[in-house]
Amino acid sequence: MQIDWQQTINDILAKKLSCPRCGSLTDDVLVGYLRTPEAAAWAPLCEGCTKRESCDARKLVVLCDSCASDVRLRGRRVDEEGFMVALLEECRSNLEETLDYLADYWREDLDIDPDEMDKRLEDVEPELFEEEDSWRRYLEEQYGKIHTWFRQRGLAVPNPGWRSEYVEDIIAIGYTTLLGD
Ligand SMILES: [Zn+2]
Ligand SMILES: [Zn+2]
Repeated sequence: MQIDWQQTINDILAKKLSCPRCGSLTDDVLVGYLRTPEAAAWAPLCEGCTKRESCDARKLVVLCDSCASDVRLRGRRVDEEGFMVALLEECRSNLEETLDYLADYWREDLDIDPDEMDKRLEDVEPELFEEEDSWRRYLEEQYGKIHTWFRQRGLAVPNPGWRSEYVEDIIAIGYTTLLGD
């Protein structure tokens, strides 16, 4: 089943949660983590992930009760706000990962020469950089939408200081961000 997450997020805005696996509407859902590639279809943030069909990352997935037991998801039950908090946290941890990767991990990942330590990812592997950069942009856009969701309801964004710390860290390593001032 092909999931339109934009539609799903619109549904959430309209105060109903729908299961991405069977399409049923519920008041609460189960959120948890799965690594299987098939779970990419039930993982809200995988829509912007480049691996998609073969994504074996640990993914936050959301499912209704019966689908969760079908696929052995060890999830916790959340309502709409709980789901948005989980999504916000997932967005943040993915953004922290891309930050760490851009800052340093890519050098180990690509096993680059110690002589090339001063080079940047975009100079060494432009295509990989482009992939990482569009993933980060996608995450930042989702972050912005989630933030707006909290604002529009007059709900406090949990741990609001996270955002400015992220912005400073990204700027410090020489990149721009949609989440800046
Ligand atoms: Zn379902
Ligand atoms: Zn993915």
